[in-house]
Amino acid sequence: MGAFRVHSGMGNIMIKKLLIANRGEIAVRIIRACRELGIATVAVYSRADKDALHVKLADESVCIGEAPARESYLKMERILCATIASGADAVHPGFGFLSENSKFANLCRRCNITFVGPDGDIIDRMGDKSAARNTMIAAGVPVVPGTTEPVFDAEFGKQLADAFGYPVIIKASAGGGGKGMRIVRSKEEFIHLFETASTEAKNAFGDDSMYIEKYIEHARHIEFQILADNYGNVIHLGERDCSVQRRHQKMIEESPSVALDEKLRQEMGGVAVRAARAAGYHNAGTIEFILDSDKNYYFIEMNTRIQVEHGVTELVTGLDLIKEQLKLASGEKLSLAQEDVVLRGHALECRINAECPERGFLPSPGKIGGFHMPGGNGVRIDTALYAGYTMPAMYDSLAAKVMTLGADRAEAVAKMKGVLSELVIDGIETNKDFQRGLLDEPEFVSGVIDTDFVGNLLERKKGQGERQAGEMGA
Ligand code: ADP
Repeated sequence: MGAFRVHSGMGNIMIKKLLIANRGEIAVRIIRACRELGIATVAVYSRADKDALHVKLADESVCIGEAPARESYLKMERILCATIASGADAVHPGFGFLSENSKFANLCRRCNITFVGPDGDIIDRMGDKSAARNTMIAAGVPVVPGTTEPVFDAEFGKQLADAFGYPVIIKASAGGGGKGMRIVRSKEEFIHLFETASTEAKNAFGDDSMYIEKYIEHARHIEFQILADNYGNVIHLGERDCSVQRRHQKMIEESPSVALDEKLRQEMGGVAVRAARAAGYHNAGTIEFILDSDKNYYFIEMNTRIQVEHGVTELVTGLDLIKEQLKLASGEKLSLAQEDVVLRGHALECRINAECPERGFLPSPGKIGGFHMPGGNGVRIDTALYAGYTMPAMYDSLAAKVMTLGADRAEAVAKMKGVLSELVIDGIETNKDFQRGLLDEPEFVSGVIDTDFVGNLLERKKGQGERQAGEMGA
């Protein structure tokens, strides 16, 4: 194991001017990394985002259309025109929007623009989740037992599910963000749930190709961060445990996972590297696994982009993943080998969303009043909010990513409690107090959680509320 290294400073990076095809805190995060590397930045924005922080911080900015994403952040030709007109030589897609769109990646390359991410054919190979399963099976990577061909027909799907045995999980091949996904606990429910999942997938992704897996009970979500260069070097940067989820959406992420010992970490990390190699992968990516209560692990998907939760890996490795992405996209070799990667301490991230937990987590964007972001030793907050800013309603509700680094998990959690208590975002509702409450739950404190933790807690609270209401009524 090598010494803990912080990679910074300017190299002779090939990219001179970068267009950021995104908004919000990730656009701000990328602009900051560019500043450190001496790369000029171009922001793009919709009419709803003219006052957004990323527009204020970039060297230049270009309005690319109306507020709905399909009229702006998803308009490939406008983004390419803005890139060419501004003289940018590269595009960073961030996450969401066009980040996993192979057509966009290919168009960039055809226009001689560096796409900060893998090639279009790799995005295709891993982006279709059903096809990715087959690539992994061929590479000897364990996958959850399930279908190997896309399923369109509910009756046919039911026959397969009956053979696997219930519970199963129906998923969209093009899926993301938990959409088009349904857990089926008995054969009676199958047809109805398949139809709702497939309609949801069609509406969200324009694609109703589905696949079916065994549903693994009491699972943890464990993912490995990968870095790969264009010369066949692939490393992993340890894991993130993202088991604190509501409706398959991550809420709290941490690194390392309490569920892994060093032996299992090395084994799963090795498998993740093998998976990335099998995909012919380059740049930053994530291999996601489900870990069952007997510590069997199964590949579920690969994300061919930077992830929301990349910061926790940065905190424990001392690396800057956006800078690494830019260097790798410039054709540089990986600056470190597997044995140079040292995980130090324990990092935690709470996603603070503009939403109201008391009203079913209803999105609650609006104008920010009083605003205070705490700081201190081992505290990092990535946000694009500022006092007086109005969060538009049409984009996602992520308001701030609050991260802490402690010598161990208990210290990281203690810091997080302090930060969440101090944090002020007035004018909108947030899930800050709900997140703060999770940190005191005995299961979270013990670390013995699975992906049902939040759902079960909400059920218990609902039950308590109903009982209390009943007693008062009696
Ligand atoms: P998405 O891309 O929509 O986020 P994923 O395939 O990453 O979908 O799955 C999201 C979450 O759903 C996982 O983190 C996990 O909690 C749950 N999940 C997915 N597949 C399974 C499975 N086979 N068994 C149990 N839980 C699963």
